[in-house]
Amino acid sequence: MMHRRVWIGKLMSVTGLLAAIAATGCAGNAGSSKVDKPKSGQSPDCSDLRSVSDTDRKAREALGYETSATDPERRCSGCALYVPPKEGGCAGCMLFKGPILPEGSCIQFQPRPS
Ligand code: SF4
Repeated sequence: MMHRRVWIGKLMSVTGLLAAIAATGCAGNAGSSKVDKPKSGQSPDCSDLRSVSDTDRKAREALGYETSATDPERRCSGCALYVPPKEGGCAGCMLFKGPILPEGSCIQFQPRPS
């Protein structure tokens, strides 16, 4: 049986997530980072935010996105909101536009269901 305090905590977490999605208005852009495709044989620079607008940069900053997770258990690659890279591109996040790194993290980490 879930304690009331735990339940309220979970509710607040989901509410915060929905507020973040509403604030960024970009939940549907997953994996659509506009990082230039690398030339054949090259890896894309998924830290390059030159094509990301100021608004979208602020959205990722508001969520505390960092390129290297301080807690290995909370890496983007293990998050339910992680969008794997496609065809030599960069990974993305369902919460904001632009590339992310699999080893990154943010305050909205949601463990991927097992
Ligand atoms: S940890 Fe944050 S930035 Fe990374 S995929 Fe999850 S929600 Fe997106």
